[in-house]
Amino acid sequence: MHKETWEKTLQDIAESVDEHRFQTWFSPLKLGASDDQSSITLIAPNRFVSDFLDQHYKERVLSLVRKYSPLVHSVFFIATENAIPQEPAPETPEPTPQPRPSDSTPPRPESSSPGLNKRFAFDSFVVGSGNEFAKSAALAVAEAPGKTKFNPLLIYGGVGLGKTHLLQAIGNYVLSAYPSHSISYLTSEEFYLQFIDAIKNNNTKFFTSQYRNSDVLLVDDVQFFSGKESTQEEFFYTFNSLYQNGKQIVLTSDLPPAALKGLQDRLISRFQWGLCVDIQPPDLETRVAILKRKAEEDNLNIPENVLYYIGENVSSNIRELEGIIIRILAYASITKTDITIDLVKTIVKRSVQPEKARISLDHVIQTVADFYKVPVNNIRDKNRRKEVAHCRQVAMYIAKNTTNHSLKTIGLNFGGRDHSTVIHAIHQIDEQRKKDDSLRRDIDYIINSLKMD
Ligand code: ADP
Ligand code: MG
Repeated sequence: MHKETWEKTLQDIAESVDEHRFQTWFSPLKLGASDDQSSITLIAPNRFVSDFLDQHYKERVLSLVRKYSPLVHSVFFIATENAIPQEPAPETPEPTPQPRPSDSTPPRPESSSPGLNKRFAFDSFVVGSGNEFAKSAALAVAEAPGKTKFNPLLIYGGVGLGKTHLLQAIGNYVLSAYPSHSISYLTSEEFYLQFIDAIKNNNTKFFTSQYRNSDVLLVDDVQFFSGKESTQEEFFYTFNSLYQNGKQIVLTSDLPPAALKGLQDRLISRFQWGLCVDIQPPDLETRVAILKRKAEEDNLNIPENVLYYIGENVSSNIRELEGIIIRILAYASITKTDITIDLVKTIVKRSVQPEKARISLDHVIQTVADFYKVPVNNIRDKNRRKEVAHCRQVAMYIAKNTTNHSLKTIGLNFGGRDHSTVIHAIHQIDEQRKKDDSLRRDIDYIINSLKMD
């Protein structure tokens, strides 16, 4: 009964909290049985998660739920050991829906452009010397898309430094300042995959017009175009058409254009027509400011000396800083202690050894095998049974995302498959998990349990 409400709510939550929080607290939740319309029960994998959500997120979740089901008045988080599984939907037809007392139109989710996450806003972007210029350029473009000299704007820099955040912030800003503008946000990988699909389905006309009609085209991680000749060609024409019509193009990449390998010269030269700005890793002051901001978002009171300790000892990657805050919260809630420098020291020490180096391939394979109840040997050898093949693909996907091993090594560990098989598996699972919520949740669950071990 509440299924749809919960799905929409979960979507809203995903758009309002960062990835770490979402994966740690929300994505493992399952909807429990409920006797009436006025309450919703969510089952957490353990007591710790249910307690945490109850203390920190109850109000927020309730208000989101009520957007879709105004009759709900309470939300309960319970641990799986205390849960009654959701009953299958009754076969009998539902009673005629009650008219809503106040409004006639059902509440609509706020308008958003596909692919844009509202969490990425200029307001929540902490500025420091390493990203100041990039932020100002991004804001200038967002205020007057296509009207500045910064066309295209290309933002480049290392992993986890805020490129996607700024790119999406532009999209979100334009979305509210220029509601009639059409905005396209996508990664270059998505561009590539959609293009391949369009060719396969004889549908390139539609594909072409879709992006050439954008007022603002935001393409993330263009380094992925490397070596993909026909995709580059298609993108080249898209770029020209938008540019000639005064439409705004914003791109991100991990390296400055001139250093991008495998990209056609004519594309590289166009990328440099407008403005290229880099993002540098944040200095200590900025790291502390970011930590402060993230702690505030969670109503967490972390003493200044502790923030400095974290800032000094945790790498400059902002995604990792976010991860640390989450872990501190988790530890403090489990042990019901205050956040002291000693507590934080232990956590930081455990976390700075990069997570990826900690997780072994064997551990990934074992965990996935246990989850799907498939013998480990079957995943490791050439067994072609459908369930085994699927489970193997999931394991490859997770291995790529949680370990530092190369595609080649991963392939060798799965019955001596070559690296193109691994790429194929990763693409396939990536595509499936976009469409299949339960697969996505299973994968998040497995990844989380690997990280928590
Ligand atoms: P990139 O695309 O460069 O790899 P992201 O934009 O995905 O990095 O940033 C990683 C995480 O760090 C995101 O959750 C983002 O919101 C956060 N983040 C990055 N830079 C900042 C910043 N200056 N202020 C606040 N949060 C930031
Ligand atoms: Mg990114």
